Amino acid sequence: MNHLEFEQESRSVRDALSAEKLYECMGISPELRAMGEEILRDLRERFAGIDERAEVNQLKVLHAMQKNRISAEHFNGSTGYGYNDAGRDDLEKVYADVFHTEDALVRSQITCGTHALSLALSANLRPGDEMISISGKPYDTLEEVIGIRPSRGSLAEYGVSYRQVELTEAGEFDYDAIRHALSPKTRLVAIQRSKGYLTRPSLSVDQIGEAIAFVKHLRPDILVMTDNCYGEFVDVAEPSDFGSDMTVGSLIKNPGGGLAPMGGYIAGTKECVENCAVRLTSPGLGREVGASLAVSRSFYQGLFLAPTVTAGALKGAVFAASLFERLGFRCIPDAVSPRSDIIQAVEFGTPEGLIAFCEGIQSAAPVDAYVTPEPWAMPGYDSEVIMAAGAFIQGASIELSADGPLHAPYAAYFQGGLTWEHAKFGILKAAQKIMDL
Ligand SMILES: *Cc1c(COP(=O)(O)O)cnc(C)c1O
Repeated sequence: MNHLEFEQESRSVRDALSAEKLYECMGISPELRAMGEEILRDLRERFAGIDERAEVNQLKVLHAMQKNRISAEHFNGSTGYGYNDAGRDDLEKVYADVFHTEDALVRSQITCGTHALSLALSANLRPGDEMISISGKPYDTLEEVIGIRPSRGSLAEYGVSYRQVELTEAGEFDYDAIRHALSPKTRLVAIQRSKGYLTRPSLSVDQIGEAIAFVKHLRPDILVMTDNCYGEFVDVAEPSDFGSDMTVGSLIKNPGGGLAPMGGYIAGTKECVENCAVRLTSPGLGREVGASLAVSRSFYQGLFLAPTVTAGALKGAVFAASLFERLGFRCIPDAVSPRSDIIQAVEFGTPEGLIAFCEGIQSAAPVDAYVTPEPWAMPGYDSEVIMAAGAFIQGASIELSADGPLHAPYAAYFQGGLTWEHAKFGILKAAQKIMDL
């Protein structure tokens, strides 16, 4: 083969490997791909801003790891009681440095986000105390933790009372109502950063910081707990930078970087975190016990990747809002609003639209792409729910996933994507399913 012949061969090999060909072969029409590329040209500046924040967060994480002299022996793990587990203990110092808190509890024994929040509350409230949510109705699973819906083992059963202050119409803190709600019994104020499955806007770190300052100014003795689920590393600052006594989240969302196979964290004051440690294990034992088995390395490596993984998921959310608005659907948040978490809601108005969207997300997954998601009656929900997830870690919603209840306005809530490229493909796949209806 002479040089010219080789050049021709190389051209045809590369031609078959072009993004254009591969998208088409994986079911995306040239028209839709062109629309996607056009939208992305307009998003360049927006994406550059996301990358800048990821860069700052990467440095924050790196600095915390270097400062705590993380080395290979931190990945060894422990068994049995888990005494003297340097990997586990120093990871907690790394988290405390990333969140700029006195202390942190980061454990595989914290089974999920709900457990972390339940632990933070039950460890720091005593019979007769009152907690107030100042961001309206909390995440669904907390209703049974608090006892808003009567439940075995709830805080209500232990004599902890609960009140709730709604956000204003505009989705902002209602300062007058908060002032009136505080009582001598009030021991803890809870704030939820992400909208969860509601259509209110998510709260920014600055909004949360201002609310914390307001509460602390009136009543320095009140503890503030922030549900930070889905919010980590979206901004360069966290609620803990503005005096949140406990900042709480799940490791199968943003801070686990897709590698943590389970777990939760609570970053906060020494006093609050110590209370959580003795509640998690046992009075007298506290944080000294809890074998890390073989998960330490994934916790460190996941945290190391978390800033860029979160940035990829965020780009996916912004791209989805831009694309689906172009296709005529209402998106919450809309394409241009600033973000405080990685969740994107899209309203389809019909069950067919919602189902097609979820089918598209499922068919784009690296795992279980061949299965078809179907609406299902779920305990605790008043209508059927459809879910799409083809994840490496069961239920990990930092991986590309979507779900939605089958009632008006037929909104899909979607989030995640371990890489921006995968999020992009999933969104195009979902849009293609909708266009093919
Ligand atoms: C996911 C989530 C939770 C609960 O976390 P799980 O890991 O699902 O138990 C709590 N609050 C918010 C805002 C969440 O997004």
